[in-house]
Amino acid sequence: MLPAFFQSVVDLIARTATDLPPDVRTAMDRALAVEEPATRASQALTIIAQNIDQAESCESPICQDTGMPTFEVRVPIGANQIWMRQHIREAVAEATRRGKLRPNSVDSITGENSGNNLGPGTPIIHFEQWEQDEIEVKLILKGGGCENTNAQYSLPADLDHLGRADRTLEGVRKCILHAVWKAQGKGCSPGAVGVCIGGDRTSGYLHAKEQLFRTLDDTNVDARLAALEEDIMDEANRLAVGPMGFSGLTSLIGCKIGALNRLPASFFVSIAYDCWAFRRLGVRLDASSGAINSWLYREGTVRSKPMLAPELVGVGFRRTGREVPLQAPISEEQIRSLRVGDVVLISGQVFTGRDAVHAYLMKHEPPVDLRGGVLYHCGPVVAKEGNDWRVTAAGPTTSIREEPYQAEIVKRYGVRVVMGKGGMGPRTLAGLKESGAVYLNAVGGAAQFYARCIERVTGVSLMEFGTPEAMWHLQVKDFPAIVTMDAHGNSLHKDVEEASGKALEESAFRRKASTHPQRAG
Ligand code: SF4
Repeated sequence: MLPAFFQSVVDLIARTATDLPPDVRTAMDRALAVEEPATRASQALTIIAQNIDQAESCESPICQDTGMPTFEVRVPIGANQIWMRQHIREAVAEATRRGKLRPNSVDSITGENSGNNLGPGTPIIHFEQWEQDEIEVKLILKGGGCENTNAQYSLPADLDHLGRADRTLEGVRKCILHAVWKAQGKGCSPGAVGVCIGGDRTSGYLHAKEQLFRTLDDTNVDARLAALEEDIMDEANRLAVGPMGFSGLTSLIGCKIGALNRLPASFFVSIAYDCWAFRRLGVRLDASSGAINSWLYREGTVRSKPMLAPELVGVGFRRTGREVPLQAPISEEQIRSLRVGDVVLISGQVFTGRDAVHAYLMKHEPPVDLRGGVLYHCGPVVAKEGNDWRVTAAGPTTSIREEPYQAEIVKRYGVRVVMGKGGMGPRTLAGLKESGAVYLNAVGGAAQFYARCIERVTGVSLMEFGTPEAMWHLQVKDFPAIVTMDAHGNSLHKDVEEASGKALEESAFRRKASTHPQRAG
């Protein structure tokens, strides 16, 4: 039965995880072109562009968080969906074995990682019948950082900086702008939003995610929604959240809106936020063999055009000469000399730690000496090669999840540098000041770029938590990151959030002035 089906799905997963589709590349090209060179935003986008090229050329994951695999499958009438579901699951396990997907499926009660991306609810597979004689399989890989920035509003609602959002398209508009503002850099901006107006809480989120299967450059068939999409793109990019929340001209690369009927008593606006690592592809398969007839969103046989101009290949992060080298372990004096905006290049030993490690450190002594150390919020993809380990993808994870623990861990164990993405909150900011430590923002999703800054894996602790959650001991060289929270109480994240909040207010005021000139005046 369908002898080529399994391999076709493995190929789809591998390509989706390693090579961004042309519409996303074009949007990221545009973002890079409009930013002023040598700004934080431009440096972040250059690293992203280099990362995209590296991932494609070595067929490695674009981001270490290979996300929740979500398949949308359309089959001819009479096709055996039970058989296909089983083979899609096996293809997911095989792609995980080949290192194209990180083991990402965790038992919600025990915390145990299944190791093969299979488990209750993983992967997500939706079937639909259609009256065609091909099988269509579409796949989206959406990571946890951006998934955590999804938002659902129940209208009417009062929103920060925007006031009341009513049950109107204007109310919907406010919700979308609010969600983009709220996300800041936590979902690895610039991102794209899929939106559903209406439905119930469940169908709303589902339909919002389905919007992400539209290409970024299409036009909504509903003229009212097309106008709203255009308006959101314009307004959201005026907020200046910018790449990684560093401030800049591009905060959003796409807005796709759909609508479902609702109950009279409910009015939900559901928003699925996807990051710049917008991994979405599809294939059309021969219904009798399962072989790939054609690719969706891209020419299957054509290699993607590199993002970076030839003269920039291999340069990626352009040095200005003002970068500060930091050799771990790092002294308090060195840390206190750093200020928000400084770019540092870390060399020496770095230890990874994310949710499980932080929970552990709150109750136990660390397995390594963290004094003067660098704690990197990262769940890498790591391959075993003989007796050694090799990191194949190692970008930062969203730091705000560690907010309840971070200040305590920094203080207790003498950590000098916390590194991740998206920034942290007031408790950590106060803790950094008290203990003499800094927070560094690495570029979210730049998993290939950062993997190349790791010279070797010198050890691993707490392996019982599974690969992404273990504490990896990494020897790094010239690992670039930006000081976004310093030891003097300054936070770039706080500044950008406040400035973009003000921009939201101005956008609401402009809107009011254009629709009710006499009242706004
Ligand atoms: S780019 Fe950022 S948000 Fe997207 S999957 Fe990677 S870490 Fe998560």
